[in-house]
Amino acid sequence: MIAEFILAFAIQTADPIGDLLEADATMPSAGEDVVPPAPEPPLPPVRCQGEFTQGAMIVCRTAPGTRVDFGDQSATADSDGWVVLGLDRDQGAEITLSASLPDGVEYLQTHSVTQREYNVQVVEGVPQRTVTPSEADLVRIREEGRRKAGAYTSRWEGAGFASGFIEPADGVISGVYGSQRVYNGTPGRPHYGLDFANAPGTPVVAPAAGLVTLADADMFYEGGLVFIDHGQGFTSAFLHMSAVDVEVGQVVAQGERIGAIGAGGRSTGPHLDWRIKWRNRYIDPALVLEVDPAPLR
Ligand SMILES: [Zn+2]
Repeated sequence: MIAEFILAFAIQTADPIGDLLEADATMPSAGEDVVPPAPEPPLPPVRCQGEFTQGAMIVCRTAPGTRVDFGDQSATADSDGWVVLGLDRDQGAEITLSASLPDGVEYLQTHSVTQREYNVQVVEGVPQRTVTPSEADLVRIREEGRRKAGAYTSRWEGAGFASGFIEPADGVISGVYGSQRVYNGTPGRPHYGLDFANAPGTPVVAPAAGLVTLADADMFYEGGLVFIDHGQGFTSAFLHMSAVDVEVGQVVAQGERIGAIGAGGRSTGPHLDWRIKWRNRYIDPALVLEVDPAPLR
């Protein structure tokens, strides 16, 4: 399913006259029998990995400082030329990438975006107070909401995403991204996580390196909760954990233990719910697992 998309040279604003003058200066004089050297193949200005599907992560490499406009978002390549983008759950059928390189050259390409159908998942047996919270619970929910929102504004300078992602836990996939959820008969927001059901205490590891920006053993909806900022605005969340083994400010390596599977918060049984956010949109962890940035390194 992994495909590489190379941005085409659709628009080039480099000065063609300057190129011609330069070529003239190296032209052999009349009568010389010189075989011109084969032209070097041009390097693609922006190389990307990832599938243009609703909820996907697209990892690209280009010249440092390149600005990429991507639908209604824009991002700037870091000092190593990495730029990573996310497609919304409900992204439209077409998206245009335009890259403005530091040398003034611009590239443009339009991609069709695979449209998905999301199922409805009926969930019975979650604690009723997590479906119809009391006034006191609402105060706590708002306070925790502010803390989560604050942690999501973190912008780590590292590039944890560049290694690709591994599964954070062993388990049976019991929930997928995008489903419409109905909790104890009450419609809720779509489910954005990838759920790994397994016994309580099963280790949870960092799927990629990053900075821990939230670590709390007892959140109202999430139970034990950890956020890891992988760079470029991509943050993983790990929900319902029975143990939290990291602290805010800690940098974790890919595969390092961060906690253990549990059933805290709005949950019917022990599982890890892994979510990934890019800026304000949720990305599908199952698609993130399939992106291989190795050809770009
Ligand atoms: Zn879940």
